[in-house]
Amino acid sequence: MSDINFTILGTSSGMPQPGRACSGYVLQTGPELSLIDCGGGVSAAFTANGFDPLQVERVFISHTHPDHVSDLPLFIQMIYLAGRKKPVDIYLPEEFVEPFINYLRAVYLIIEKLPFNLNISGYASGFRYEKKFILKAIGNRHLLGYAPFIEKYKLLNKMQCHSFQLEVSGRTLFYSADVFDLEDIKGHLNNQDYVVIEPTHLDFDLFLKFIPQVSVGQYIITHLGTVEGQTVLKRAVEKAGLKNVVFAREGLRLELDS
Ligand SMILES: [Zn+2]
Ligand SMILES: [Zn+2]
Repeated sequence: MSDINFTILGTSSGMPQPGRACSGYVLQTGPELSLIDCGGGVSAAFTANGFDPLQVERVFISHTHPDHVSDLPLFIQMIYLAGRKKPVDIYLPEEFVEPFINYLRAVYLIIEKLPFNLNISGYASGFRYEKKFILKAIGNRHLLGYAPFIEKYKLLNKMQCHSFQLEVSGRTLFYSADVFDLEDIKGHLNNQDYVVIEPTHLDFDLFLKFIPQVSVGQYIITHLGTVEGQTVLKRAVEKAGLKNVVFAREGLRLELDS
């Protein structure tokens, strides 16, 4: 088995489902692990999939809905208790940096007291991480519906949500995270090896009609609701006769070796 891969830790959408964590993914590049999103149940799913907390070098969070970030304090605690000494980098939407640092203090994960450097940095749309792999953050409109409330209550939220474009070892993977609709991402999908995509906020029939218009190796549908809800989506995919669409399951591993 290759040691360059992408593993799905959790397939639940915002409503946690029995035996399934919410959004969380591990990008393994040799001995280094990067976590992408950290929704409810992801820390336990991480260990259940045999990953070592000491190998986590960095975390990227797409947006701050609980099903994408609520397990992050526990994940940091897990790394701490495992005996981490090397630095860990956490990349958060800019709007979340200060509230998150304060939240960590409130749950007694005081950054200054940790035996390793926890480097928390904010990013915005257009951010590009480029070392052993490339991750590009592409802002989307997922959170824009909150605008009237943010205005009314004079909140500091910036409604930042990002899809991630990954280039690893010559392979490409697009992770939609959560979107407002297909318009947010359709211009980015052509020629991707993998598209990990959520159906919750898509017009699913429209999405299925769009699929033959672009060249994508494989779509992986995740961020899923009940078993019954999934059955409806699976029937629609079958009816459309699409061969490059699969449904995510816990622990599904996508190989990224070229
Ligand atoms: Zn979500
Ligand atoms: Zn969301």
